[in-house]
Amino acid sequence: MNKCDSEVLASLLVENGYSYIDDFQKADILLLNTCSVRDTAERKVLGRLERLKQVKEKKPDMILGVCGCMAQSWEKELLKRFPYIDIILGTNRLIELPNLIRERLNSGVSAIDVLEMPSNGEIIPKVRESKVTAWVTIMHGCNNFCSYCIVPYVRGRERSRSSESILQEIKKLGESGYKEVTLLGQNVNSYGFDSDEKIDFADLLALIDANSPGIERIRFTTSHPKDVSSKLIDAMGELPKVCNHFHLPAQAGSNNILEKMNRGYTREHYINLIDKLRAKVPDISITTDLIVGFPGETEEDFQDTLDLVRRVEFDVAFCFRFSPRRGTPAAKMDGQLPEEVKMRRLYELLEIQDKISIEKNRAMIGQIHEILVEGQNPKDKSQLSGRTRNNRIVFFTGDIDLIGQLVTVEITDAGNWSLRGELCS
Ligand code: SF4
Repeated sequence: MNKCDSEVLASLLVENGYSYIDDFQKADILLLNTCSVRDTAERKVLGRLERLKQVKEKKPDMILGVCGCMAQSWEKELLKRFPYIDIILGTNRLIELPNLIRERLNSGVSAIDVLEMPSNGEIIPKVRESKVTAWVTIMHGCNNFCSYCIVPYVRGRERSRSSESILQEIKKLGESGYKEVTLLGQNVNSYGFDSDEKIDFADLLALIDANSPGIERIRFTTSHPKDVSSKLIDAMGELPKVCNHFHLPAQAGSNNILEKMNRGYTREHYINLIDKLRAKVPDISITTDLIVGFPGETEEDFQDTLDLVRRVEFDVAFCFRFSPRRGTPAAKMDGQLPEEVKMRRLYELLEIQDKISIEKNRAMIGQIHEILVEGQNPKDKSQLSGRTRNNRIVFFTGDIDLIGQLVTVEITDAGNWSLRGELCS
């Protein structure tokens, strides 16, 4: 979502006559688009703002802006710590960026807009990082208030975009040569719940699948287990462009912890969903997010999470230790665990999951897969990089002209996070 927001901010600047330069120290405008989801992300921004003091001293007319979730939640506190910030722009108001720049230039004092009320108007990004795959926001905000999560406080309640506007954006992407779209929302499964359109997420997928010439692949993120419907599971099996990958955050394997997290489902419900998905789409890849060390998590609760991991055998799991976010109920709960307990549990979980991931990746050796070539391997420009339909990154040798094409590749080697392959003739 933040990457997509950065594309929106860049588009607004380009529309207003600005262009990118490589050396940020010489920029007229420098924006930090921030994330609040974990403490580490916030600390990174604070460290960067410290360092930018010198840059601002050398070039005082540079406009330094902080956008996104941290701008929304920290507001004036940021200005107190870093008085040289010129613009603070919240998540619901991105479209106001040009106005804030004007306000700052005219008034000479810092301009702030972190209103919770979303601005009128939509911005369809014109500047995109990739020419092959595109993010398409289908809804903003979240109504779920998981007890550990800051998102509903910084991105507001759910607002679905109209299906017509989404379709138009995707059609244009197809016409411009894009092959893949990833539909974005904090909880895409509740798409349409807030609108009068009577179109739910499964309907939206069907509409896009049928009306997106040029687009070959549809992905989406993120899903919430409590809102995954049988209709959606059926759509996964039936719609040809929808990829065989489902990211379904479990967060924990213990019902006690799931309840404290206010997740609204049980481990039994979660396992049932996975079984149904696998029955409908046998080669589906399932990925997840897991948190260890949630307040009050006992050794038994933790073992339940390990048990879930062994039972489901996720293709990939993004594992985190609990990071208290100020203003959320979980930050104030009794039973906060020491860091060393969280770390030990995290390592134990990673050890088990890594073995599962590598085994699953190795099982793909010898298989032929359709790959959408996205670009060059960032670590070895002589190689191309692309993705299978089940969302594995594959590196292989090939001509640069293949970028943007669908090719077939035989998988020859597998690591934890990526595969290697050979182009089939
Ligand atoms: S559903 Fe996701 S974004 Fe919404 S509160 Fe829960 S974790 Fe946060």
